[in-house]
Amino acid sequence: MSSKKKRVVILTGAGISAESGLGTFRDKGGLWDEHDINEVATPEAWYKNPKLVLDFYDQRRQLCLKANPNDAHLSLTKLEKHYDVRIITQNIDDLHERAGSKNILHLHGEILKARSVMNAETLYDLGLKGIKLGDMAPDGHQLRPHVVWFGEAVPKMYEAEDIVKDAEIFIVIGTSLNVYPAANLIYASPTKTDKYIVDLNELTNVKYKNIKHLKGNATQKVPELVDRLIQESKI
Ligand code: NAD
Repeated sequence: MSSKKKRVVILTGAGISAESGLGTFRDKGGLWDEHDINEVATPEAWYKNPKLVLDFYDQRRQLCLKANPNDAHLSLTKLEKHYDVRIITQNIDDLHERAGSKNILHLHGEILKARSVMNAETLYDLGLKGIKLGDMAPDGHQLRPHVVWFGEAVPKMYEAEDIVKDAEIFIVIGTSLNVYPAANLIYASPTKTDKYIVDLNELTNVKYKNIKHLKGNATQKVPELVDRLIQESKI
């Protein structure tokens, strides 16, 4: 007799990749301490100074290529044998892929891919190469990073909501839940869904009573939670 696997939805943010050496977003010493968001991660920045934007993402791309998945990314792959696991990540790195996770939805794009400024659908793998001004897509238009900038729509949001509405377990890892609309995803999960938040800090902006906060490093707390969930799946 085959029983359906429970669905586990995992929303990850910059914090899961912090211990792989990739800076987070808002933490002290994070990316935006060094860069003005408006100068590098908005459509206005692109029109004003595309070279600066391309240089910024090229730096992110090179750091991503040097980083490796950590124990948090790796442990999540173990859940797949026991659960129907769906990862929704705000991260633009490819560390979930390299860890071996299968169902990954990138809400905010992927740093190792490019697209034409005129076509958001067709993606090109960058491999080891960055994008330079003058690099054209086959449609004759400038290539840009395949990332969602602040002020742009998040086209994968509907797909993400669809995944979340069937969550039986919802795990949030390493995100301050400050970037919308992604931060709303936790509210798209059913009320009875078991919810966990793994973060260095207690997130006071989440208004659910039945959330279990696992405070600490992702590389420690995520493997512990994974082991616990695997045990529970056998009961
Ligand atoms: P954020 O910086 O706002 O929040 C990071 C969260 O992770 C914080 O709550 C922090 O307490 C927690 N954290 C930091 N180190 C941790 C650790 N070792 N273990 C557990 N928790 C830890 O990041 P966010 O909420 O993901 O905000 C988002 C935006 O920044 C996203 O859109 C994302 O695309 C972008 N971003 C991506 C990357 C990446 O791809 N690796 C890196 C930086 C920023």
